[in-house]
Amino acid sequence: MSSQLPVAGPAEVRAAARRDLRVERRTVVGLVLVNGLASAAGLIGPWLLGRIIDTIQSGSGDVLSTVDRLAFGALVFTVVQTVLAWWALKIGYRFGERTAARVRERFLRRTLALPPRVADHLPAGDLISRGSTDAAVVAFTLRSAVPEVLVALVHALFLIVAVLVLDLRLGLCGLVSLLGVGAAVRWYVRRARPAYLAVAATGADMADVVASTAKGARTVELLGLERRRAEVTEAAVARARSARLSALWLRTVLFPWAEVSLALPVVGVLLIGGALYAKDLVSLGVVVTATVYLRQLVGPLDTLMLWIEQLQGAGASYARVEGLADVPTESEPAAVHYADGDRIRVDNAHYSYTGARDVLQGIDLVVQPGERLAIVGTSGAGKSTLARLLAGLDRPHTGSVTIGGTPVADLPPDQLREHVVLITQDQHVFHDTVRDNLLIANPDATDEELRAALAAVGAMWWEDLPHGLDTEVGDDTELDDAGAQQLSLARVVLADPHTLILDEATALLDPKTARQTEQSLAGVLRGRTVIAIAHRLQTAHDADRIAVMEAGELVELGTHDELVSAGHVYGRLWQTWHGETP
Ligand code: ATP
Repeated sequence: MSSQLPVAGPAEVRAAARRDLRVERRTVVGLVLVNGLASAAGLIGPWLLGRIIDTIQSGSGDVLSTVDRLAFGALVFTVVQTVLAWWALKIGYRFGERTAARVRERFLRRTLALPPRVADHLPAGDLISRGSTDAAVVAFTLRSAVPEVLVALVHALFLIVAVLVLDLRLGLCGLVSLLGVGAAVRWYVRRARPAYLAVAATGADMADVVASTAKGARTVELLGLERRRAEVTEAAVARARSARLSALWLRTVLFPWAEVSLALPVVGVLLIGGALYAKDLVSLGVVVTATVYLRQLVGPLDTLMLWIEQLQGAGASYARVEGLADVPTESEPAAVHYADGDRIRVDNAHYSYTGARDVLQGIDLVVQPGERLAIVGTSGAGKSTLARLLAGLDRPHTGSVTIGGTPVADLPPDQLREHVVLITQDQHVFHDTVRDNLLIANPDATDEELRAALAAVGAMWWEDLPHGLDTEVGDDTELDDAGAQQLSLARVVLADPHTLILDEATALLDPKTARQTEQSLAGVLRGRTVIAIAHRLQTAHDADRIAVMEAGELVELGTHDELVSAGHVYGRLWQTWHGETP
C-alpha cells in the first residue's frame, strides 16, 4: 500500500467538532430550543387521545362536546408541532451548510499552506480523495444528518421522559425493552470507526494506484510492465472491496437486530399495561397514551439508526479531512534575514531520493544577484534535482541551500514565491478566464500589465480569442501545450521574483518560438537572477556563467569562453554540438 496522510485521532476530531459547534453556538442553542418546543407540542396529541378515551369510558358530563374540544386541541398541537419541526430543520440545514463550507475552506487553506517541499511528496490520490469524497461526505452529513439526528434525539428524549412521567411502571417497562437497541448500537459503533477508516484508506490507495498507472502508461508499456501493474491494481481493488464488504457486514447485523428491538417496547407496554388494566391499577387512556408514545419512539430511533451509519462513515471522513493538520512540516517557517543579500548559496549539498544513492554529491555553488547561470550536463546528471533544491522543493540531507542566509526550504510558501520561482514543463491552466489565470501571480496587475506580460512571452494568440482576456480557457477554448507554457511564463513575468529557475520551461515550444521567447523573457527579466537548465547549448552560450554537472557532481564552473578554452567536458560538448569552437 502506498503511504497515506495522517488521520486525526478521536480526541482531535472531538476538539475540531467542538470548535465548529462553538462558532455556531447561538444557532445550535436555537436549534435545540425550537426542537424541544416541537417535541413538547408533539407529546400533547397522544396525551389528549388518552383523555378522550378516559372521558368516553367514564361517560360522565357532556361527553360529546368534551371529546370535540380535546380532538380540536390534538389537531392544533399537531399543526404546531409540524410548523416547529419544519423551522428546526431549516435552522439545522443552514447550520450544516455554513459548517460544511467552513470545513472545506479549512482543508483548502491547510493544503495551500503546506510548504512546497512537503506538498510535493504527499500522495496525490489520498489528498484528492480527502478534498473531494471525504469533504463531500462531511458536508452532506452536516447538512442532512446532523439536523435530523438532533431533531430525532430531542424528540426521543421528550417521549421517554413523557412516558416515565405518565406512568413510571409502564415507562420503565418501555425503557428496559429498549436495552436491545442500545446493545445493537454499542456493538456497531465500536466496530464502525476502524471499518470506515479502512474503507476510506483502501479507496484512496486504489485511486493512487490507478492514477499512477495511468500517468506512467507509456513507461509501463515501454518496459512491458502491464502484467505487474494489473496485478498491483487488482490487489488494491481487492483490498478496497474487502474493506467495503466488512463495513457492509456490520450493517447487515445492526439493522435486523435494531428492527426487532424497536418493536419490543410496544409489545412490553401492551402486555404489562393490559395486565395492570385488568387489575384496575391503571386507566385505559394511560395505557393507550403510553403505547402511542412508545410507538412514536420508533420514528426518531429509526432515524437515529439510519444516520448512525452515516455518522460513522462521516466521522472517519472528518478524521481524514482534519488529519491534514498533522502533516509533519519538520520546521516552523523561518523568518528571513537577508544577511547575505539575495545571494543563493549551495554548500556541500548531498541529496538522495531513496536514501540508497546520492544523486547530488558535494555541490558548492554561489549564484550572484542578477546573474544568468546555465546548468548543463548529460541526462540523469542531477540538473533537475539541483533545480528542485534551489527552488526549496526539497532540502539536501547534508549541506545547505540558502538564500540571503536562510535555508530556501524553510521559507513560508508566500515568501518563497516572491523570491524563487521554478518553471518546469508541467504547467497548470486553471479552468477560468485568461485574466484570472494570470492574476494568480499578481492580483493587483492592471490589464495593461497583463497584456505586456503576454507579449513578453510571445503569446499574441490571446488577441484572437473570442472574448480576449475574458475568454474561459480549459473549456471550449482549450490551450495547446505551448499556449499553456506561455501562460505560465507570463505569470512569472507578473510575479516578478528576484530569482527564476527554468527547467525545460520552453521545451514545448517549437525551437524558433522558444529562442524568441527566451530572448524576450531575458529582456523583461533584466536585473533578475535566472538559473536555466540548458538543453540547447545556445542558451548556455548566452549565459553569464555555466555550471557543468556529471553524475551528481558539479565538475566545471565558468564563462562560456573559459570553459571552451579549458577544453574539458563543456568544451567537448560545445565542439560536438556546434562543430567548431567559435
Ligand atoms: P534530465 O536531463 O534527463 O532531466 P537531470 O540531469 O535533470 O536529467 P535528474 O532528473 O536530476 O537529472 O536525475 C538525477 C538522478 O536522480 C537520476 O539518476 C534519476 O534517475 C534520479 N531521480 C530523479 N527523480 C527521481 C525520483 N523522483 N525518485 C528517484 N530517483 C530519481
